Amino acid sequence: MPVQFVCQQCRKRLSVSHRKQGAVVNCPNCGQPNVVPEEAHGEFIGLAAFSAIGAARLREVRAELVAQRAEGLERASLTHALQAMVDRGSAVTAVEIHKGWMEIESFDDYRRAWREVQT
Ligand SMILES: [Zn+2]
Repeated sequence: MPVQFVCQQCRKRLSVSHRKQGAVVNCPNCGQPNVVPEEAHGEFIGLAAFSAIGAARLREVRAELVAQRAEGLERASLTHALQAMVDRGSAVTAVEIHKGWMEIESFDDYRRAWREVQT
């Protein structure tokens, strides 16, 4: 049975094999990488910190991906590189944030967030 979900970027409804649960798939419409739900535990918010060794490893992995012309790399290079680091055995850990943050994906989101911050 396919898993259906909505692309985080373009809101297109996507349908993939249940065997892809938890995997990262690129939206065929916009190229945005999405974690197939049901096995996902969270979402990358676009903020990361690296040790000096981690930053060097990130540059190496990204150079490998660019050389391979990884699909969608130009749209989401950090998430692709982080997944590639995980796949190659680098220690990548998450910090869970349950509330106290705002998701800003559009100018309307920004305006709404600005209004909330000002009040
Ligand atoms: Zn999309």
